[in-house]
Amino acid sequence: MKRKNTKSIKIGSVSIGGGYPVAIQSMTKTKTLDIKNTIKQIKRLKKAGCDIVRCAIPDTGSAKALKTIKKETNIPVVADIHFNYKLAINAMENGADKIRINPGNIGSEKHLKEIIKKAKEFNIPIRIGINSGSLEKDILSKYGYPSSEAMIESAKRNIDFFESEGFFQIIISLKSSDVQTTINAYREISEVVDYPLHIGITEAGTPFRGTIKSSIGIGALLLDGIGDTIRVSLTGDPVKEVLVAKEIMRSLHLYNKGVDLISCPTCGRIEVDLIKIVSVVEKKISKIDKQLKVAIMGCVVNGPGEAKDADIGIACGKGFGLLFKKGKIIEKIKENNFIDRLIKEIENWH
Ligand code: SF4
Repeated sequence: MKRKNTKSIKIGSVSIGGGYPVAIQSMTKTKTLDIKNTIKQIKRLKKAGCDIVRCAIPDTGSAKALKTIKKETNIPVVADIHFNYKLAINAMENGADKIRINPGNIGSEKHLKEIIKKAKEFNIPIRIGINSGSLEKDILSKYGYPSSEAMIESAKRNIDFFESEGFFQIIISLKSSDVQTTINAYREISEVVDYPLHIGITEAGTPFRGTIKSSIGIGALLLDGIGDTIRVSLTGDPVKEVLVAKEIMRSLHLYNKGVDLISCPTCGRIEVDLIKIVSVVEKKISKIDKQLKVAIMGCVVNGPGEAKDADIGIACGKGFGLLFKKGKIIEKIKENNFIDRLIKEIENWH
């Protein structure tokens, strides 16, 4: 897949754009002031594969908390700012690696200039986060509703302002909870700017609905080569956001760390509790740091053939199963040994 050429921007230790791998982001859901639990959540996110984490900064205490959070974690931290420009400045002074603002709600150009001045001083990038729910009033009344065109106009206006202030360390996002509007907006903006794009569907919903919406929206854009960093928004544990982001990228060959798992949907030929077997194996392989494709198939008739391109697999039959490598059967194993034998083979893979 050919990715659009964008400018490279450094967020702490992670570079995005300019051909760097698509970075996975998530956001902590703890109160940032609750430093202990915020650090704990950031560590879980990092362990799950998160590259960049964002924390809400609703008050001065939260901005100050960033200092300790930064010291105790080793992942770039983005400060999420709304309304109060002073919080952006405080966050930068306390070690934020990037600021995310929605210029539409910062208030005045004077305040934006203060933020830009500080970001230049600390050499910190800023994400201009255009959100369909908080567009500038004049733009909203011109278009009547938060269309993709309205979001593009808002983005262009803000980019022009930042550039006129001599600030170019910009990342852009144009989020809407409507999948089609979001896709249209990113497709259009990617034609006119070469700043890195942070993509995602905002307020996507529960893990079930949000995963589907995000996969369609983020997936369509990534297939177009658009997107330098992604965030899956889910109403739930942020670790799930990272896991979903990884699978979206894995399915597009943009992420190849860890074990990929293929399993058949089961049908009338099934003789074992495949759903249980797959769920146990899925949990176990999440802890294995190897790059390979594993298949778990429900029958010995079609299993190995259907999973030809898997590295290792098992085709489960009644009382026994066939262990195969690259589609070739290498061993017949007993049913009570399916999981252990498969895991052992995965662990020995090199
Ligand atoms: Fe059915 Fe076998 Fe195919 Fe699974 S692998 S869907 S059990 S035919």
